Amino acid sequence: MLKQTLLQQMPEAQLSEEVTLLQKKFHGFLNEEGAIRIIASKHGIQPEKKPFTLKKISQLVPGETASFNCILLNCQSVRVFEKDGRKGFVTNATVADETGELTLVLWGKDAFSLRKFERNSFLLVKNAFVKEKEAHSKLVTEILQGQENPAFPKSLVKSIPLTNANGLLNFDAFGRVLEKSPAKEFNVKGKPGKLVKAQVADDSGQSNVVFWNSNADELARFVVGDAVKLEGAYEKDGEIHLGKDGRVISPVKHSLEKREELYAKHFPRLNISQAKEGEQCIISAEITKALSLNAFYKCTCGKKPLTKQCECGKTANETLVLNAEIEDASVSTKCAFFNENAMLVLGIKEASIDYNTLFSLKRDYLTHNVVTFIALPKFSSFTKKMELSAKHVLSIKSQYEMPKVN
Ligand SMILES: [Zn+2]
Repeated sequence: MLKQTLLQQMPEAQLSEEVTLLQKKFHGFLNEEGAIRIIASKHGIQPEKKPFTLKKISQLVPGETASFNCILLNCQSVRVFEKDGRKGFVTNATVADETGELTLVLWGKDAFSLRKFERNSFLLVKNAFVKEKEAHSKLVTEILQGQENPAFPKSLVKSIPLTNANGLLNFDAFGRVLEKSPAKEFNVKGKPGKLVKAQVADDSGQSNVVFWNSNADELARFVVGDAVKLEGAYEKDGEIHLGKDGRVISPVKHSLEKREELYAKHFPRLNISQAKEGEQCIISAEITKALSLNAFYKCTCGKKPLTKQCECGKTANETLVLNAEIEDASVSTKCAFFNENAMLVLGIKEASIDYNTLFSLKRDYLTHNVVTFIALPKFSSFTKKMELSAKHVLSIKSQYEMPKVN
């Protein structure tokens, strides 16, 4: 087939000469067909791809590579594992068509491909490796938007308002992240675990949500104010949990109120002079002077080392703090921005240079920026002023184009 296409472009003698030359170059380890494929590709001729045929799930045979349309019934969060010292990713999903269901096991970067598909989305799985009641992704696998098919069975798991979760063992819900705590690590019978608690709010109110293990990692992709969809959550003792059979994703669409409206409902908008000790509020103020940028270290052993490397051998947790003088129409005071909030004000995604250099590069550009944030006021007995720490930066209006680093 390829040979015929090539012969339309060159005489047969020339082709056979080129084939012989190539075979010589490969010291005889190349057959005629292989040589023709190389020559064809030089001439911009691609071998015709076999048209892929779509199968039904019940027709899949273990050992084959196959493509099929299906509906996404269930999906776990992406798990990180380590093998031979290297990080790997995997996720399991249950998919079905009208003839049956199977577990889709997605490895590596394919594990993330289901993030953009909510429960009951139609999928086209191309070139997956079929095993007993499973289909695994491999190098050539693609997960695409599939064709809608009313014959496919739908998941009966319901989306409910957050405050209606009482006693439910499996449900979906939409909400905005109102607040989240730092990750807590623990050990159960020698197995390390992790959890993050967050406040999630929808129009019905707000709930405590516990994100376990891989879901704690997934939540790290979202900042306060972001809309999330919880899939496969359960309620226990007044809290919503997202365990190994659940996941948190960015909703494709939602009808949640805008983040500004949500904040205004939960926190009063105040002048600095109206701020009261310990009462969170929304403050808009201008940075009049950037004072310092420092990092503090705290190790899980309890020590506070001067660098990341603790003398106990472990790596200490780093807290980045940006101190600034701020001012609104009422008064001026000091404000501290921590970690991701400091990064936001500095206009960086990660600090790849040392903090002294970073600060000297950025400090002058911070002046006159107007920052709106959720503030936690605290009276300083030292300055005799109400000082603020920024819990969450909501917006920054810059006066200048910031110089780019990293
Ligand atoms: Zn230590």
